[in-house]
This record gives sequence, C-alpha cells and structure tokens, in this order.
Amino acid sequence: MDKKPIQPTPERNKDALARQSLTFAAMRDRLTQYMESKAMRKTPERYEVLRVANMSGSIFTIDELMTQMQQHGEFQVSRATLFNTMELLCEAGLAIKHPLATAAHFEMQTDSLPKAYVICHQCNTITRVSTGTARLALQNLHVRYFSIEQKLVYMHGLCRKCQARNRQEARKNKKEKKKS
Ligand SMILES: [Zn+2]
Repeated sequence: MDKKPIQPTPERNKDALARQSLTFAAMRDRLTQYMESKAMRKTPERYEVLRVANMSGSIFTIDELMTQMQQHGEFQVSRATLFNTMELLCEAGLAIKHPLATAAHFEMQTDSLPKAYVICHQCNTITRVSTGTARLALQNLHVRYFSIEQKLVYMHGLCRKCQARNRQEARKNKKEKKKS
C-alpha cells in the first residue's frame, strides 16, 4: 500500500509561514526586490541601516538608531538618510512605524503575526505586549469586506512607573495640605 504524505491544510500552512521569522538574508533579499521594483539605487548605506536596525531587536527612535550606527555601523550616515531608509524599510514591509506624538518609533518586522502595544500617555513609552496574549485575542478578529494585511493594536493608558509616581505625588500633596 502506498503511503501518502500528510498535507497540511492551506490555513495551517499560511499560519506556519507567518510564524516563520525572516532571516537576515531573506530581509536583504526583500529589500533588494523592493528597490528594484521601484527602480531605486541599491546603495550600501541602505543595507547597512537594515543590518544595524535589525540588531536592535526592540522598538527604537531615529536618535537611538543613530547611536547604534555610531557604535556598530561600518560607516556613518546622516540623520536624514536614517529616517528615509527607515521609511523605505516600512514601505517594503520590513519595519513598522509606530504613531507616537513625541518622535517616530520604529521596529523591525520579521513576521506577520498580530502585535499589540501599550502606550503610556504620561511618559510616552511604548511597550510590546507578549505575543502569546496578543495572538490569542487577535487571531479571531475579522472585519467584514476588509482584507486585513497586518494586525497592530495600540492600547493607551498609564505605565507602572507613572502610576507609582502619581500615587507618590498624591501622597505628598495630601501631607502638605495637612501641614498648611
Ligand atoms: Zn509612563
């Protein structure tokens, strides 16, 4: 009797692909393809920004990336080049730009899994919520007649540090009121 290989269902297959993180080589390839499709110049600076940004592994601002470039970059680029390259990486689907009131925050994107973030409106920090929790909550979220390409959710509120600081301030104010 012939043994038939077990075929994964298309849905599962899709999920497995999304779960698979892009390797750096694959990210480089995607950048090359994107620049070729847009007839852009494939400058070494752009690849170097991709390499250094990819080292961060978290959310960063242009200023933080500038410091990273100074420490780990093979050559230095201007702030404008850094910003433009990060915009390019976002367009190519290799990075995410977080809409914050203070400064633009970026994060490299190596998979298409749902992601959730908490933003503190007092100190303006952004933190990624553990993907397990986010995935569970978001995987069944669908919008009628809309093809969702990326699930990013932002929750606004107060971080732990700011909550503690506010409680301390309140206590201090109460004491001073009693004194007067
Ligand atoms: Zn805060």
